[in-house]
Amino acid sequence: MTKPNTYQTTLALTPTQFSECLKTWQREHGRHNLPWQQNPTPYTVLVSEIMLQQTQVATVIPYYHRWLQHFPTFQALAAANEDLVLALWQGLGYYSRARNLHRAARYVVDQFNSELPHSINALREIPGVGPYTAGAICSFAFDLPAPLVDGNVKRLFARYFGITGEVNSTKFNNKVWQLAEHYTPPQDNRIYAQALLDMGATICTPRQPQCTQCPLQTTCYARQTQCVDKLPEKKKPTPLPTRFAWFGIDYNATGVVLVQRGTDAVWPRLWCLPEFLNAPVAAIEHGQFRHVFSHYKLTATVVQFKAPATNTRVAWDDLPKFGLPAPIKRYLAKVRSNL
Ligand code: SF4
Repeated sequence: MTKPNTYQTTLALTPTQFSECLKTWQREHGRHNLPWQQNPTPYTVLVSEIMLQQTQVATVIPYYHRWLQHFPTFQALAAANEDLVLALWQGLGYYSRARNLHRAARYVVDQFNSELPHSINALREIPGVGPYTAGAICSFAFDLPAPLVDGNVKRLFARYFGITGEVNSTKFNNKVWQLAEHYTPPQDNRIYAQALLDMGATICTPRQPQCTQCPLQTTCYARQTQCVDKLPEKKKPTPLPTRFAWFGIDYNATGVVLVQRGTDAVWPRLWCLPEFLNAPVAAIEHGQFRHVFSHYKLTATVVQFKAPATNTRVAWDDLPKFGLPAPIKRYLAKVRSNL
């Protein structure tokens, strides 16, 4: 394969040198005790990879254990009730991941006889499995050569190869993927892929990278040209707009009225206080909460109201069985503590 002319440095190691260097480092200094590294199966790799998207390792660990206790296999997850799936995900955020994992399990059971396929293209057909997750499954579940690119790899490659351009721009992402493919070793990709993630998480960190501990320091473009803090080039932050919303609360000492949201709503399928489309007239304010989404900030006003008798009244003790959005869960915890 021809060497891609996509980076600035002439210092870079060859793919073989690079992967050998990282594999040696991983064996000595990488992470080996993460729960999903112990006897990994294709199922546990998929679960951990989906949970780890946009979420810290320390946050994921208790959720991962709890999940496997309830759903130890694709079949168990495929047969599960969605309410329980969402309840076990409660607090991890980005609930579409839980729904996709549930759909993925059903897809794998129906289409692949409960066995994950070994090819990137077949893996990409599974709901919620994007290019990174497909690469991670091939690498960690099957030890096959497959590129994987996440935020850690983007940062490491941008610095090491001197990739300019705004991070996550199409041009930047294409360069990183091209290099990731070119540098993926034909053997022992499981260790190499783990090394990339470990380097990004522990050495080539976003702030104050540990360059003096880095096995790549003598051939790293950013280190050698003293521009570590300038790469990758960050996207200029745009201020988030604020949106307003109004929710109604009807509660007593035994429970609170909740409704399950529709599939097209924000927090789809989660249980929530009933939401009003417009500011209710002459309502008595009960409280407020705020929440930051990726694209906007929410300022919510909660007002007292009398729910129709047909609405579901959930006992306080049963709330943990319902998947609730994090700010609603916090709000209700406060209400209950003041009863
Ligand atoms: S030398 Fe520093 S900037 Fe370069 S790859 Fe290593 S930790 Fe990252």
